[in-house]
Amino acid sequence: MGFFKKHTISIIAVVSLLAVGCYESYWLHGVYKAAKEALMSTIDLSVVQEEVEEYLNGIMEKQTDTLRFYAAGSSSKIISVSMDTLKIMPRSVSVYKAGDLSSKMKLSAPNVDRMDSKLRPLLDSAGLHGLEYSLAFAILEEDEEVPVPEGRTQNINSHFFDGYYTFSYAPLTKYIFGKMGGSIAISAGLLVLIAAAFCLMGKTVRKQRELEVMKSDFTQNMTHELKTPIAVAYAANDALLECGMAEDADRREEYLGIIREQLGKLGGMVDTILSTTTGNIHPNRTKTALRPLLEKAAADARMNAGKTCKISVSVKPENLEADIDGKLMSLVFATMLDNAVKYSGKSVEINVEARMSGRRILVEISDNGIGMAAKELAHIFEKFYRVHTGDKHDVKGYGIGLFFAREIIAGHGGKISVRSEPGKGSSFTIELPNG
Ligand code: ADP
Repeated sequence: MGFFKKHTISIIAVVSLLAVGCYESYWLHGVYKAAKEALMSTIDLSVVQEEVEEYLNGIMEKQTDTLRFYAAGSSSKIISVSMDTLKIMPRSVSVYKAGDLSSKMKLSAPNVDRMDSKLRPLLDSAGLHGLEYSLAFAILEEDEEVPVPEGRTQNINSHFFDGYYTFSYAPLTKYIFGKMGGSIAISAGLLVLIAAAFCLMGKTVRKQRELEVMKSDFTQNMTHELKTPIAVAYAANDALLECGMAEDADRREEYLGIIREQLGKLGGMVDTILSTTTGNIHPNRTKTALRPLLEKAAADARMNAGKTCKISVSVKPENLEADIDGKLMSLVFATMLDNAVKYSGKSVEINVEARMSGRRILVEISDNGIGMAAKELAHIFEKFYRVHTGDKHDVKGYGIGLFFAREIIAGHGGKISVRSEPGKGSSFTIELPNG
């Protein structure tokens, strides 16, 4: 049951594609049959047309004293104009039914070679260009029926002679498929379209599910994190209220400080949550020197690292300024340095380098931490996305730091990119417009 629920879309896609495929095969089979029948009747008509001509030719050969002109109205009607050769004027005009005529002026057999030479251009112009074939004539005895054709042959009854033609041909596949080109293209296009629609749907649903999981992870982590400052603030408050600590001015000061600090943390977390939902960032930009911002972020990161952490800061030129919102950009630098420390081993070395590059300012933050696989790099800036590292590097986080950083940088008209190699480290480059 679980399997069916999990793969509903794939199952529906496969069943639908199979159903459409079967229906299309059935339809194409019909089109194939119709195209083949159309070609066979073209062959029939061409042979009959040549037979009429051949019959008239035969009769002409027989008439010596009179010139007769024949015109074929259809395969079964003949108009005969008999001319007096001396006076050069028509002697009589008659219309015969093919059957009557053949009994009236019986000819034993057609000249198949002559018919053949005229049939070729007729078939060429009827869409059977280059078809390999052979034409033969066989006499039918009294009461004998035209035999059922075998293999790639067609038996065509003669209207004028007592017999039938056998038209043997090479495979017609190329001509049939030539006629079916449009139908095949439509069927294939339809199948591709349906498959693409299902792929897109599957991808969207999978993304939606992933987002659901990431959201619930985020909520769990955040709730857990929110509980800690609340608990600490409660404990400090209880100490003040119930354990008489409020009497001691120093203690009171200390505990109120703790409460204030924890409330500050809570406020910061609420801001973070809000920033992920509102999404609108309006930086308040002023010319700001980069060195102090980067130095402050580096100092904070060193202090909170809880491990050996070397951070070098290089700014060229020394007084480099950028048109930025100092508060927001400090958050970005803090996030990048925080991550460099979090996603590294027992010790970490971080290089921060800010410089001008043409009309842009580049800030590069590189570390020698755990790095990331290439396939992760496209996702790490997505909301709630976290790289799954198993138990080995089970580091706390919400998957919104880089998302928020990218939003802030985009709000400044800049962009952020990353290069990384597992086990070697990562390097984030922030590009900001200069002025
Ligand atoms: P969080 O750190 O809260 O998980 P982020 O949005 O800051 O969320 O980062 C997203 C993911 O990118 C992290 O889960 C981590 O796997 C990866 N990452 C970010 N910075 C680095 C880094 N410097 N080195 C290795 N991995 C990193």
